[in-house]
Parts: sequence; structure tokens; C-alpha cells
Amino acid sequence: MQACPPGEARTVSTPAADASEPSSPAPATWQAELAQAFRTVDALWQHLGLPDSGLSAARQAAQGFPLLVPRGFAALMRPGDPLDPLLRQVLPLGDELASPPGFTADPLHESGCDPAPGLLTKYRGRALLVATGACAVHCRYCFRRHFPYADLPRGAAWWNPALAALAADPECHELILSGGDPLTLPDAQLAALVADAARIPHLARLRVHTRLPVVLPSRTTPGLLAALTGTRLTCTVVIHANHARELSPEVATACATLRQAGILLLNQSVLLAGVNDAVETLADLSERLAAIGVLPYYLHQLDRVAGAAHFAVEDAQAVSIHRDLAAQLSGWLVPRLVREVPGDPGKTSLS
Ligand SMILES: *Cc1c(COP(=O)(O)O)cnc(C)c1O
Ligand code: SF4
Repeated sequence: MQACPPGEARTVSTPAADASEPSSPAPATWQAELAQAFRTVDALWQHLGLPDSGLSAARQAAQGFPLLVPRGFAALMRPGDPLDPLLRQVLPLGDELASPPGFTADPLHESGCDPAPGLLTKYRGRALLVATGACAVHCRYCFRRHFPYADLPRGAAWWNPALAALAADPECHELILSGGDPLTLPDAQLAALVADAARIPHLARLRVHTRLPVVLPSRTTPGLLAALTGTRLTCTVVIHANHARELSPEVATACATLRQAGILLLNQSVLLAGVNDAVETLADLSERLAAIGVLPYYLHQLDRVAGAAHFAVEDAQAVSIHRDLAAQLSGWLVPRLVREVPGDPGKTSLS
């Protein structure tokens, strides 16, 4: 997924622990962990001991799109290093306030073309449902940071028009849950949504685009597995890691749990200057993904969203990195280098 609305709508409320879940030795629920996430520039700055330069610009950048970083993800960052590749993905910078030409609020021309609220049917055979506007982490490069939120679905009643539109489209065989992050929904809501989708006879597959197995691995609860695998739909989960260091032992365990439940795991990354724009970095990522049972799927060229220009990698450079990557990895470990071009029938290959 790479889709998010900024502002209040994205932050997740903290419902009480789901009483129907078996009491495991887990010390805290994922909701409690999320409630403790860093939500201010100052708190993260202090926690990581970052140098004072840049702080006031960061505060300003965070006003347009607030900081949100789970503590477990912050624990993987190197203290005192503003260039840490994990930190860079989530750290507001003065660079965001620049507005170079060509970087716009809606680079994919998505607003206003939905058949039902939250439903995007740009490509044949599959439909993408923005299941919620909330995320567990705010990625500074996210292309939906300016998305209009007021219209976002917030509960089962909101999904009904989308499901009705899907039911009326017999060519659609795959429902993609995106957002925001669909796994920020409580288990019961997710289970209800999947069960409703499974009643649409021509739907065969469910796909979930999520960063939660990476940034909040405790989300992988028995209740979640039941929600995802409890119907006739086959389930694929596309995680979103950009750097091998994100894939901690806890993330590996979460991925193993998902795979043991019969879920196919894929990864998508975004090519990001200063994060993963080097052959060795991407090779390490693919090797680490293979080690934890996740297939590299896509490497996205950045969507040209206002506020993210400092992450851009030139196409020629991207193609060259990708060619060198393919020259040193097994074929199945090479993600497809793609970009989203408004109006194209699918992701456009750059290689
Ligand atoms: C990326 C995307 C999809 C999925 O495309 P795949 O190539 O099947 O991964 C579907 N719908 C929308 C609107 C998308 O942006
Ligand atoms: S998790 Fe990050 S990339 Fe995904 S929708 Fe949220 S902010 Fe965007």
C-alpha cells in the first residue's frame, strides 16, 4: 500500500482489547503498542538524541502531515544518526516545504473517479478498496498524504456501496484492501468485511496491502489470521519494507505466522533516495526477504507527490540500479521496477 490521508483521520483510536481473543503470553495488545507510538517530532528527536539543527523545520513539516512512528520501529534506528535509512522514511524535514514543479497533491489523478466511495477500479480484474484512512506509521514519501479524507469509509456501512459495485462487476476476481492500512482495523471489522466480500461469487482472491507486519509485528494475532483465512477467498498479504534492517526477528516471526496460516507473502518497496537507492542495499533487502519467506514483488518509482521530491531517484539511475540488481540475484528475488502512470492499464514497467 502507499496510500494515506494525512491528519486526524489517519491516527488510530485505541479500542479495548478484543475480548474474544485467546489470552496469550503477549505482554500488550497491538492497540496498546500503537497508542504508545511517537506522535511528535520532539519526542522522537529526544528519544534518538538527534542534533538540534533541523528540529524547527521538522516541527513545521509535521504540521501538514503529523509524525507517527511505533516504538518498536524506532528501536531499529541508529541513535544520533539523522541519515539512518529507517528514520529517513518517517522523519519530517524542511525539504518537504519546498515545492518543485511536477510534484503535486494528487499525482495519480485519483480523486473524483471512484465508482463508490473508497473503491478504485483502475485495472481490469481487480479492485482496490481504501478500507480505512488510518495507518500505524506515517511515511513521508506516501503519495496519499494529500488525499481527501472526509469521504473515506470508516465502518461497515461505508463499505456497502463499494461491495455493491463489486457485486455488479462480474469481471472482478480480486479484492485489494488498501488504505491507509487495512490492518489498523479491529479484527471484528476486518472479519465482517472479508466475510461480506466472500459472498460475492465472482471474487476469488483477497489481497491485503499493509505495513503492519513490518512496523507493528504484534498485529499478527490469531484473530487477524482467522479474519483473513476464514472464508473461501485465497489470501495474499503484500508487506511494505524498504530496507533489510526493517526485517527484525519479530517481523520474521510475524511473517512465519502468516505463512503457516497459508497466506502468500509478497513485498513491495519504494525506491527512495537516501534510503535504498544502492544496489547492495536492495540486494540485502531481497536476500533478507527470501530468508523470511517473502517474495519481492514491486520496486516502485516514487509517485511525484508534493513534499516528497527529496526522495526522488532519476529514471536512468533507477533503471541502472535495477539492471545491476538483476545481474547479481536469483531471478525470483528481483522485484519488478514499475511506476504508476495515470491512464495506463496497469503498473508501467521501467526495465
Ligand atoms: C497498484 C494498484 C492495483 C494492483 O496492481 P497489481 O499490478 O495487480 O499489483 C490495483 N488497483 C489500483 C488502483 C492500484 O493502484
Ligand atoms: S503505511 Fe506509509 S506508505 Fe502506507 S499508506 Fe500509510 S503512510 Fe502511506
